[in-house]
Amino acid sequence: MSVTERTYIMIKPDGVQRGLVGKIIQRFEERGYKLIALKLVQSTPEHLEKHYADLKGKPFFPGLIKYMASGPVVAMVWQGLDAVKTGRVMLGATNPLASPVGSIRGDFCLAVGRNICHGSDSVESAEKEIALWFPEGVVQYTGALESWIFE
Ligand code: UDP
Ligand code: MG
Repeated sequence: MSVTERTYIMIKPDGVQRGLVGKIIQRFEERGYKLIALKLVQSTPEHLEKHYADLKGKPFFPGLIKYMASGPVVAMVWQGLDAVKTGRVMLGATNPLASPVGSIRGDFCLAVGRNICHGSDSVESAEKEIALWFPEGVVQYTGALESWIFE
């Protein structure tokens, strides 16, 4: 766990269509994480199959790829203390019905196949996902509030 830990967070097509981009970004900003990459992308089934390679063979895989390619997604990298694990806590459980109120999924959605956001599940997968979605690299800058957020 370090203050330079990075996680890949993505707002899925339903989150974009439902106008939840601002609210989701606001939660990461307010928590104290630093945005170091951001873009709106229409992804492709080929790219999404790489992103979800670990799930190939699952019964929901074809539907998942179709859902994720059905509209633009917001791809982001957030940096800060414990970004991967805390990012997952902020998203909630995979099944929104099992997500606590106060989490993004627990507050904004109901169905596992329309759960509005993605977050990396380990530091290793975060680094793989960042490389896959941002081959151009991320942006390095000093956050003006860092000494007020971290000791
Ligand atoms: N998913 C689904 N049905 C399932 C399990 C997962 O449609 O039974 C979808 C859901 O959108 C989930 C994504 O597949 O977010 C990736 O699954 P994973 O187990 O990696 O969950 P996550 O890491 O997103 O919580
Ligand atoms: Mg996952």
